[in-house]
Amino acid sequence: MPLVQVQTNTAAAHRKLAWYRSPRLLRHAVMAFFFLFLLHVAWEHQVKGGGPNGAPSIEAYCPFGGVENLYQFLTTGGFVRHVEPSAMILLAAVLLLTLLFSRGFCGWICPFGSIQEWLGLAGKRIFGKSYNPSGPWERRLRALKYVVLGVIVLLTWHLGTLVFRPYDPFLAFFHLGNGFSEMPYAYAALGFALLGSLKYERFFCKYACPLGAVIGIAGKFGLTKVARSDDGCKGCNICQKKCFAHIDFLSVHEIRDAECNHCLECVTHCPKPNVLSLKGPGLQLSTPLYAALLLLGLFGTIGVSQLAGKWRTKPEMVSFTDQKGRLNPAQIRGWMTLNEISAGYRIPLNELYRLGRLPASVDGATRLNQVSRKYGLRFEPDQLREAVEQKLSSPARPAGAPVATQTSAPAVTPAAAPAAKAAAAPESRPPAVAEIPAHPPAAPKETKGSGPHGAPRQGQHPGAEGESEPEVRGMMTLNEIELKTGVPKEFILKRMGVTGEVNPRLPLREWMHGAGKKIGDVRDAVDAYRAGQR
Ligand code: SF4
Ligand code: SF4
Repeated sequence: MPLVQVQTNTAAAHRKLAWYRSPRLLRHAVMAFFFLFLLHVAWEHQVKGGGPNGAPSIEAYCPFGGVENLYQFLTTGGFVRHVEPSAMILLAAVLLLTLLFSRGFCGWICPFGSIQEWLGLAGKRIFGKSYNPSGPWERRLRALKYVVLGVIVLLTWHLGTLVFRPYDPFLAFFHLGNGFSEMPYAYAALGFALLGSLKYERFFCKYACPLGAVIGIAGKFGLTKVARSDDGCKGCNICQKKCFAHIDFLSVHEIRDAECNHCLECVTHCPKPNVLSLKGPGLQLSTPLYAALLLLGLFGTIGVSQLAGKWRTKPEMVSFTDQKGRLNPAQIRGWMTLNEISAGYRIPLNELYRLGRLPASVDGATRLNQVSRKYGLRFEPDQLREAVEQKLSSPARPAGAPVATQTSAPAVTPAAAPAAKAAAAPESRPPAVAEIPAHPPAAPKETKGSGPHGAPRQGQHPGAEGESEPEVRGMMTLNEIELKTGVPKEFILKRMGVTGEVNPRLPLREWMHGAGKKIGDVRDAVDAYRAGQR
């Protein structure tokens, strides 16, 4: 029984339909909505920065983060760096949508698919036509995205870090031109995908998108299908010519191809009324009904997760102290400002600048992960984290000693803002650049070894040209370090004297403090291995 069925299918007749009944106009309206929404998210994040008091990052709205985090979530209940619970919920929503409504997410919602499609339309105008090859080789090439998916998933699940991040064109696009030096490969992939889609419809979707691969597999089991009736079909094959995926209609009555994204271009262009239609189990779906169900499924899942208190798009507030009330420098995050760290760790702001080797021109309200971009310095949050770690474990304040004046956990909350402001008051501002010692005191020897992982050379500013970034950083996992340095994690743990069980997929900073160890210990272990002390 048809539900509000579209009466006619010719492209000319579709142009006369109200926009919400035209498959093409309605779909592009929905696509534009999601595209603009994500553009807004990206813009806000760039302006406000991240963190609990900032704006969500674009990754919070990417369901592929859920795929990447799945193993971590199932084995530890935790999240790999940059993934928030909302990504897991969106993954669940997308899988649910796909099982119910096939690959509609790709055709109607995904902003990166939309960008490619719009560029394809522009390309057609510019070049007169698009290049859309087909044939056995082309179909085999589409399998590439399943290989991409397999490699990303295996590496990410093993290493506990987002290996695809530096190459992700979606992320690069929504960084709005920022952070080019942080992820040049992602920008290169973006350029390739966008230029490719000018001439070649949905170029990235077809051959490389790992999320498209997941959705393609799930879409095979989807309940809705584009159906063709023999009754009235004159075999003109316009449907196949208009289909970006070149799906062969004439040999089947229901499209079960993993590439069909329910764009309904075939339905729009079929010259015969009601030969092609969208079908669910036992019913024919009108375009507005399909769109409404798709949106209901997505927003319904998000709404339920919000009601259940599970929807979170930003990192949680963190406490500066561990469970024993000891200050824990591992809690320093890239989204924290210098003022917040100064207040939280009771370190005067000028001392913090000295530890981070930062010039006074850096505003105390700057987030750590924005220092290098804003001020053109070579600065990593890890750098300050380690310097604070050294300071807290110096003889004046023995490592692990409870803080005399504060035993409760000061969190970076809005309530902490006045304290942070006070820390930034003029009298506690750092000295002018000229007053900052040109040669900051060398790091204590026992926490940083010499060699490639050692402390910066005396007199050398970390932002100075020619200084390499440390090979081992607090955000890395043991599996990642093993892969990067070639030093077995078992050796590292043994050398460090860690006897308890350590999850090698957790960042160092999440377990080292509890184990009474420092990042310098890992670096020393790596150096020892390379020096042959095995
Ligand atoms: S294949 Fe990937 S990029 Fe293309 S629409 Fe689907 S999820 Fe988006
Ligand atoms: S079969 Fe129709 S709905 Fe599916 S991708 Fe091709 S044109 Fe779009």
